[in-house]
Amino acid sequence: MSITGGDVVDLGTGLYAWLPPQRGWGLANCGLLVSPRGALWIDTPYDPVLAGQFLAESRKRLPEGVSVDRVVVTHANGDHFWGAGVLPDAEIIATREAREHIHYDPTPQQQHALVTGSDPATPLGAYLGRHFGAFDWSATEPVRPTTYFTGELELTVGDYAVEITALPPAHTTGDLMVHLPAQRTVFSGDVIFSSTEDRPGDHPVHWAGPLSNVIGACEQVLATGAEVIVPGHGPVLDRAGVREHIGYLSYVRERAHALHAAGVPATEAARRVIAEGRYPALGLPERLVVTIGSEYRDLDGTDLPGVLQVMSEVAAVAHATELTVTGGGPE
Ligand SMILES: [Zn+2]
Repeated sequence: MSITGGDVVDLGTGLYAWLPPQRGWGLANCGLLVSPRGALWIDTPYDPVLAGQFLAESRKRLPEGVSVDRVVVTHANGDHFWGAGVLPDAEIIATREAREHIHYDPTPQQQHALVTGSDPATPLGAYLGRHFGAFDWSATEPVRPTTYFTGELELTVGDYAVEITALPPAHTTGDLMVHLPAQRTVFSGDVIFSSTEDRPGDHPVHWAGPLSNVIGACEQVLATGAEVIVPGHGPVLDRAGVREHIGYLSYVRERAHALHAAGVPATEAARRVIAEGRYPALGLPERLVVTIGSEYRDLDGTDLPGVLQVMSEVAAVAHATELTVTGGGPE
């Protein structure tokens, strides 16, 4: 089974956002900037099927003779750049720091083997199958950025300026944001996961942190003066939506610090924050295991464990939460 569909939102002045058809792990937003003399993607979908769909939608909007020849990668999670294989000749731009995260994450084919080869009778195998089983990376080669930068980079696409700013470690090591001044828009990548009443989203997941850096990145987004903010996941926001998201992040940070000070271990702290149920519309509350774990590591000065260990804890908490919610055993 693969995921199909998605909305193309016309943001005006040659700029579009592609929003995937549903929420969930790996379903990220992408951008397309079109000019008479070139076109650029901001991020790519997760697998070749979704990337092919975004490419088909992009081509409908390109002038004769123009192709998508550059991709800006907001950060090095696969759901934002593994689809670049559908643009084999494109320049792929990332921060120098993103290289570290590329080495942390599995390659596409390693991930495919993990998802399809894990025992579905274990919480981890069931979780990976349920949340990642619809993607197909069986033939996806690793994507390597072709251009790395540090600090700031300004590009020109036709007449449009594209201002790219590297951010301190937040969602991952090597995040960046893309400001399009003529369009008064920022693509924030995963420093923002949005949710609105008519389009509920998921709890954020932050691999690097600390949350003060994530909050600082949200403030940098607002400081551009942009009116339209396209987050990494979830619906397009206005400035008030970003401020509301800062409220969510501040709540999680405050709870994590209080529970850390009380000597509560990280995964138990995540369980308690989930049980508080402060944001019931958001999906994937088990991702608080990762985000609160990152906050604890910053407080304790320890390193991020391997991705499999982290995902095993996430799956175990999801499994236990389902048992509590449904009161029954696994289906
Ligand atoms: Zn993402």
